[in-house]
Amino acid sequence: MKKILLIILDGLGDRPSKELNFKTPLQAARKKNIDFLASNGIVGLMDPIAPGIRPGSDTSHLNLLGYDPYKVYTGRGPFEALGLGMDLRPGDIAFRGNFATVDDDLNVIDRRAGRIESGTDKLAQSLNIKIDDVEILAKEGVEHRVAIVFRGNGLSPKITDTDPHSENSKVKISEPLNDDGKKLAKIVNEFTKKSYEILNNHPINIERRKQNKRPANIVLLRGAGIVPELENFEKKYSLHSACIVGVPLISGICKLAGITPLKIKGVTGTINTDMEAKIKGAINALNEYDFVLVNIKAPDIAGHDGNPILKRDVIERADKAMEPLRDIIDKTVIMITGDHSTPCSVKDHTGDPLPVLISSEGLRKDGIDSFDEISAIKGSLRIRGSDVMNLLLNYSDRSEKFGA
Ligand code: ZN
Ligand code: ZN
Repeated sequence: MKKILLIILDGLGDRPSKELNFKTPLQAARKKNIDFLASNGIVGLMDPIAPGIRPGSDTSHLNLLGYDPYKVYTGRGPFEALGLGMDLRPGDIAFRGNFATVDDDLNVIDRRAGRIESGTDKLAQSLNIKIDDVEILAKEGVEHRVAIVFRGNGLSPKITDTDPHSENSKVKISEPLNDDGKKLAKIVNEFTKKSYEILNNHPINIERRKQNKRPANIVLLRGAGIVPELENFEKKYSLHSACIVGVPLISGICKLAGITPLKIKGVTGTINTDMEAKIKGAINALNEYDFVLVNIKAPDIAGHDGNPILKRDVIERADKAMEPLRDIIDKTVIMITGDHSTPCSVKDHTGDPLPVLISSEGLRKDGIDSFDEISAIKGSLRIRGSDVMNLLLNYSDRSEKFGA
């Protein structure tokens, strides 16, 4: 049995760029180590979810790890809260929220509280309260955004929003959509009132009024979702598993799945992340763990920036960091792919398929010795994200036989 290393270059896939002589960043990059792995393995294309579906990083990683996102993806609320680094538990109900400005009659004057830029950490802190037996957790996001989580027994997300979704209207009363929603709707309405009481006279808002800025004196909630219970990854696949991931959204998903996030110095989830530390950390971790997932966020950031030169450069940095992988293919199955395409010309995720490679000693090589979107068309694989775990288990000689 071999060990398994799954490397996700986030947002890897791209389209040809003028700035790169109509090559993709992956085609334009010098990447002798990744190409070495390709020539010692199998190459092809992968639809992370299904042909033409534009995945988020969350839905794609779920699918790659063997969790059907159409079943377990319960809305943006829980996953945005995970993305802010909140420690969530199955059954928690999470909302997307806005700090907003209301008058004394709770009419919404500004849904974004003057696009508040600072102090929201302190405002959020003041909202960590308890109502009846329900614990409330708040965490600030970018600008006016905040995630609100309700933790307690008997809570269902089947309720309506308090956010009126327009200005000059009153804050909405949350209504249950069925009997299950009754308890949470009541708590949410109480929370909304309390959020006004707490925030209206909060020192941050007193200061804002002095500066002629709009106070962030209420929280509007929308998009309730329940944190899903994911089948434990280690049990599901009999793999002792870890991940090295800088982005909170992805490490949050791993934690829910029971994959242990490893802390490695220099791993940040930004463009400047220490890729060498990541790869070395993964190789070390493979001594203890059977399966290690690595996510490198930098290509996605360059794609969203619309910067193909930068994307080429971060791929070259990733390639340099992967040099030590050449020495472990005798005892490891290595897969390199992405979670979705983020073409620089689009600056967002698209449904274009991604190149994928599986490298290990003793595989039937398919003769593709370069790893990019175009070479991959001639490769032997044409898979979906939901095939990934089956392929990795098979090539590491860990599959369970189907039948006698
Ligand atoms: Zn992504
Ligand atoms: Zn992205």
